[in-house]
Amino acid sequence: MTELVKDSPLMPFVWQQDCWSQLTEQHRSGRLPHALLLAGEQGIGKYHLARALAAYLLCRHPAQTACGECASCTLFHAGTHPDLAEVMPESEGKQIKIEQIRKLQTFASKTAQQGGFRVVILQPADAMNINAANALLKNLEEPGDNVLFILLSNRTSAVMPTIKSRCQQFSLPIPDREQALNWLNHHLSSHAALHAEKLLKMAQGNPLLAQELADEALHKQRDKLFFAMENLTRGGDPVELAPSFIDGDLQWTLRWMQQWLNDWCRWMVTQDDADLSFPDMLPLYRQWQHSSSLEKARLLFQDVGRLRTQLLSGANPNLQLAMEALLIRWAGKMLL
Ligand SMILES: [Zn+2]
Repeated sequence: MTELVKDSPLMPFVWQQDCWSQLTEQHRSGRLPHALLLAGEQGIGKYHLARALAAYLLCRHPAQTACGECASCTLFHAGTHPDLAEVMPESEGKQIKIEQIRKLQTFASKTAQQGGFRVVILQPADAMNINAANALLKNLEEPGDNVLFILLSNRTSAVMPTIKSRCQQFSLPIPDREQALNWLNHHLSSHAALHAEKLLKMAQGNPLLAQELADEALHKQRDKLFFAMENLTRGGDPVELAPSFIDGDLQWTLRWMQQWLNDWCRWMVTQDDADLSFPDMLPLYRQWQHSSSLEKARLLFQDVGRLRTQLLSGANPNLQLAMEALLIRWAGKMLL
């Protein structure tokens, strides 16, 4: 069995190397701005990069990355560094509160306890109401010395423009296929590594998501979902099938439903079976071809997206009813 590689929290992922070189070079030449906005898809490693950069700026003896051994790095590893503040919603899907931003004001205006930088990591930068965003803006307009704000977002279009204009934006790339497969092969068990290419396709090239997909429980959930969708496509009853759809991690289920729609639309245009992200779905795609259209799939994609957002924003709908309604719409749009 191959030894699994554990990534160092002090080092950027291999596909972030260009971005890393640029950032550390800016720092060495004294041109690092007071605020960065790291943009990029969910699960591409924005937070990992932000933490590595924070460690680097806080480190007493940095080389290419933080040294990992000085007093500052020890505090960083212990999660108790007094010059690092992390701000995120108190629970998933909620917004960052103005009180959380106000606390930052005190943090950013005092001098660093370890005598170097102070770093704030804030995510997601698109999850702030207007009051919190305005309070943050004040911080960004009057930054103290040696303070760096690192904002993260996978929906930069939803970040307030005045905040964006105060940040230097970096878009974190999806690695090229070879790089991604190479990383995956070192991060999957030897059994899962056999399916590395398939997992990477399903994750649309994102190796961290592909790694998550290799999880046994998710694998079972996907199989179950596939059979439920096959059943629905054969004319199964949406009400009876709804429990199979809400079993497991619902965000993943809804994400797959959206990905299937995307995959199907692309296939409808290209008719290229080899290009499918979900080749197992081909028999179902062929059936939908006779009963649906790109426009119907687009509307359905939005329906699924609405339920996703609703759940992420902390709403607590009756899941059985919500899924029944969604599956009835699905049957109406894809199968009739
Ligand atoms: Zn160090």
